[in-house]
Amino acid sequence: MNSITNIFREKKLKLTPQRIAVYKYLQSTKEHPSAETIYKALQTDYPTMSLATVYKALKTLTEVNLVNELNVGEGNFRYDSNVCSHPHIQCVCCGRVDDVENVSFTNLNDKIAEFTDYKVLTNKVYFYGVCKDCADKDNTDF
Ligand SMILES: [Zn+2]
Ligand SMILES: [Zn+2]
Repeated sequence: MNSITNIFREKKLKLTPQRIAVYKYLQSTKEHPSAETIYKALQTDYPTMSLATVYKALKTLTEVNLVNELNVGEGNFRYDSNVCSHPHIQCVCCGRVDDVENVSFTNLNDKIAEFTDYKVLTNKVYFYGVCKDCADKDNTDF
């Protein structure tokens, strides 16, 4: 297993406590948090860390490809420490973002290549829907 120290060293990243904290937090969750969520979650342990610092740490981590930045809607950025290409689904009611697991879209690249002159490298697939919690809530309203 690769420790964070090794990963950072490999990417030639300076090991600042803030970067480590942000990365560790992202590794601990599958919830695709926003910068604000990460900031709030780290407040107790890192009371002096500002939201701007969280943004900067996320930018750096994204640049070295340790973190995947998801643009799920206008200016709505979420972060994921799973950098393997995988589709996402977002709830239009509460905004939660989940991974779509066990479905591969890699053959979609070939398909697109058939219809364009492009050599397709990657794709980002987002689905939108209503999550189970919101659907359940809706039903109890009636
Ligand atoms: Zn929902
Ligand atoms: Zn994900």
